[in-house]
Amino acid sequence: MIDDSTPAARLVDVALPAPLFRSYTYAVPDDLSARVQAGSRVVVPLPGKKVLGIVTGEAAKAPPVAPKLVLAAPDAAPALDPALLQLGRWISEYYATPLGLVYRAMLPAAMTSSAKPDRAPKTERMLVLTTELPTLLERERAFARAPKQREVYELLESMGGKGSGPVLRERLGTTDAALQALVKKGLARWERETRMRDPFAGRRVVRAQHAPTDDQRRAIDALRGTPAGDTVLLHGITGSGKTLVYLEFLREVVEQRGQGAIVLVPEIALTPQTVDRFRSVFGDSVAVLHSGLSDGERHDAWRALAAGERRIAVGPRSAVFAPVQRLGAIVVDEEHEQTYKQHETPRYHARDVAIVRARLAGAVCVLGSATPSLETWRNAQDRRYRLLALPERAGAGRLPHVDVVDLTKQPISADPLRRVVSVELEAALERTLDAGDQAILLLNRRGYSAFVQCPSCGDVATCPNCAISLTDHRGPDRLVCHYCQHVEPPRRACARCGGATLARRGIGTQQLEQLLAERFPTARLARMDVDTTSGKWAHAEILDRVARREVDILFGTQMIAKGLDFPDVTLVGVIDADVGINLPDFRASERCFQLLAQVAGRAGRGPKGGRVLIQTRAPGHHAVQCAVTHDYARFVAEELEGRRFPAYPPTVRLANVIVSGVVQESTQQLAQQAADWLRETIAARGWPGLTVMGPAPCPVERIQTRWRWHVVIKSEQAAPLSKLGRALVSTFPVPSAGELRVVLDRDPVSLL
Ligand code: ADP
Ligand code: ZN
Repeated sequence: MIDDSTPAARLVDVALPAPLFRSYTYAVPDDLSARVQAGSRVVVPLPGKKVLGIVTGEAAKAPPVAPKLVLAAPDAAPALDPALLQLGRWISEYYATPLGLVYRAMLPAAMTSSAKPDRAPKTERMLVLTTELPTLLERERAFARAPKQREVYELLESMGGKGSGPVLRERLGTTDAALQALVKKGLARWERETRMRDPFAGRRVVRAQHAPTDDQRRAIDALRGTPAGDTVLLHGITGSGKTLVYLEFLREVVEQRGQGAIVLVPEIALTPQTVDRFRSVFGDSVAVLHSGLSDGERHDAWRALAAGERRIAVGPRSAVFAPVQRLGAIVVDEEHEQTYKQHETPRYHARDVAIVRARLAGAVCVLGSATPSLETWRNAQDRRYRLLALPERAGAGRLPHVDVVDLTKQPISADPLRRVVSVELEAALERTLDAGDQAILLLNRRGYSAFVQCPSCGDVATCPNCAISLTDHRGPDRLVCHYCQHVEPPRRACARCGGATLARRGIGTQQLEQLLAERFPTARLARMDVDTTSGKWAHAEILDRVARREVDILFGTQMIAKGLDFPDVTLVGVIDADVGINLPDFRASERCFQLLAQVAGRAGRGPKGGRVLIQTRAPGHHAVQCAVTHDYARFVAEELEGRRFPAYPPTVRLANVIVSGVVQESTQQLAQQAADWLRETIAARGWPGLTVMGPAPCPVERIQTRWRWHVVIKSEQAAPLSKLGRALVSTFPVPSAGELRVVLDRDPVSLL
């Protein structure tokens, strides 16, 4: 007899972190029913193991075999809300990635690696201001003969009205008594709040509040009037004061509308100044999601945002998934930066995810840059994004004068300095140092020299694992592969012909340091590259020294080109503009122009003005020429033309299919099969506007012992490319026994 009286158990679909495009159906035991909703974390059985997945919703239909039971549901509330679940579905479709893998990437590691229930976060006591003292008179009255209390009061004010006991005590060198006195006077009270270790907490907050310029005011007003869900490109030249525009807009979003916001920055370590400014305005409403957080701390920050205790998330690309409540705005600062692209599954681009998330959430997405990517520029031209411009520098700064030094015309000299620093640049450095100003030098190549070569047979020392030359490093002396980190001792003789003398070619930052120290012995130098910034806060320490005027010449790789705002920097020198200009990649010119324009933008930010010298062997290259004239419009016009034939983004959509394996032959074979399969599938399905190129070896044809081949798909429209990508990833047969791999990289930032 069938018992009709008991209702059938609830069935739910669960996305599991497996490389398969399918969901799994499970039955929900009655006692867990309340905790199992769309977005909940659940522990479910698979043959031989238990896994953690995310409930995607009620099952559409019962599976043919009786479903297994959900084993546990650790959290009281869903981990992902409906809007984030939907965002995940978009990412899964667009980047052809199984949903379970997407959801795993959207959550903090602590929530996907273990099914531990949501433990109570660590809390701390916060002193919160409760009474405003707007006039000086009131202040003097309240703190007559209590200067320490006034200091506490004003520091709290500068921190947005809230600060933790330990931070206040440490920063003011005071005791609990002074804090308690404010409470007694009824000016503040203690509250308990989720503790978050914040490396920026001890930093002085800058309270410089400028009145917006007319251009800034117009941009702020336009942002305030932007319809929910829209995207705006804020194209402001370097030093035009984009940060102030973001801040004023977010002030409206957070304080007037009571909503939350996300601010994406390319790299937290490189942008301490930007982070400081957000903190100084929004204080403890900000959660800084930096890479130094432990898994537990990241989890705490995530929870504080989900609970609405923190309203603004500032962080690198993964912060686009921050569970900010009532999301009103997403700012993507320096939207052209490549660091927004994730280089492992799911290979999403945080800028594009931000645009989609804002649309789904009814938030405004603001993309800011002095040198927008061509894709973004095209979208603004086609009116998919609204364009706001800040064509002039704010405050006292003016765009610097840029000169080119043609390295092919330099006189031959025995002076080793001359191989890096031209007569012109040397003289300019000398003048800058004499005037007591600061200089920034860009050399986008770390190490001592680029490679070592045998002068008799021409052999270059290469990595045993990668098709790439080894870079020569000093202190300790060694050869290093910048792709796989392989290290070997310096070679005494040529590996091929046994020749005993090896020549160092191409100069790196270590050698530049040595040459500068010899030439300018009294100048205080600071080198900034991957090798000098391995410590967690090393970047901020170097930049703080520059800000305190303890450095005369800051030099380093591209990490010194970004976002820095030092008014006393009057000279920027580019040692070698040609590094990277000839890479076999369709974005090589764009990247070169962006780097030159950005580094040039570090000069002349103060009233003293500034000057830029670009050393190059390609003075006629349009990336160099447009950087000299600060002409973004001309650069994009020429570059867009160049991307029509042969067609590259934004003329077409791109996906890169990378086939890799340890055996060269089977890798090449599989790449050929993939290309054939793609062509046949396009023909069979009749999908329009798709072209398949290749296979061909990747420009870097071996990395970490794996050979690499690729097939490039070009598409006129986005939708057919999504379908083809999904078909490839889910049905193209990759031999499961071997170690061959096929990876689909949609909207690649590089084809190397
Ligand atoms: P961007 O990010 O556009 O390159 P920033 O936001 O870093 O520019 O601002 C550049 C400099 O101009 C900063 O030192 C900032 O304090 C200053 N600044 C911004 N707006 C104004 C203003 N309205 N008046 C005076 N100075 C300003
Ligand atoms: Zn290597």
